[in-house]
Amino acid sequence: MFNLVLFGPPGSGKGTQSENIVNTYNLQHISTGDLLRDEVSRHTPLGTEAKKYMDQGLLVPDEVVIGMISGKIDDTPDARGFVFDGFPRTRPQAEALDKLLEFKQTQIHLVLALDVPEPELVKRLLGRGATSGRSDDNEEIIAKRIKEYHSKTQPVADYYNEHGKLENIVGDHSIPDTFKTLTKHINKYLLPVT
Ligand code: ADP
Repeated sequence: MFNLVLFGPPGSGKGTQSENIVNTYNLQHISTGDLLRDEVSRHTPLGTEAKKYMDQGLLVPDEVVIGMISGKIDDTPDARGFVFDGFPRTRPQAEALDKLLEFKQTQIHLVLALDVPEPELVKRLLGRGATSGRSDDNEEIIAKRIKEYHSKTQPVADYYNEHGKLENIVGDHSIPDTFKTLTKHINKYLLPVT
């Protein structure tokens, strides 16, 4: 198994690059943002709880997200590996993920962190807001999401760096150029299937 964390601030391109990666290497994509939005749209109890935080640009409580991830990993026991997108977003989430994977006798092999300057992030998120219909892509909430990122999510990079798993990637080149850089790192572990 090969397990990758695609790390970076809101708007850094994690969703786009995750799609490319899972298709190229036949991995399973786990995006907590997508999973939470799905729960919200189905009006499940978890979705109703999560929406309160998401609409304010705040992180959803760890226990909610961790429970959801655990079930998702169990859904595909035969996966070649997972790409975690938007998770872990706090240090306790990173520690919980390590425990879950250890239980499955596997681990996170690599963390690729997309580095994009803040003005570019805001520009991208506002652009997406115009078409996505996402209630959290407006100027006020974007500022809050970036603040949450700095205070709670940035420490996750330090956590993986301490474990020697972190690689920083320049994330404001074109989508294909950024993808090429990502594949150079992944190819050290796994060959493309396409
Ligand atoms: P982006 O990275 O573009 O901000 P996501 O789609 O990954 O967007 O997440 C949208 C929102 O969903 C976040 O602002 C947060 O409220 C919630 N969320 C997603 N993943 C997590 C997570 N791992 N932990 C806590 N909250 C999360």
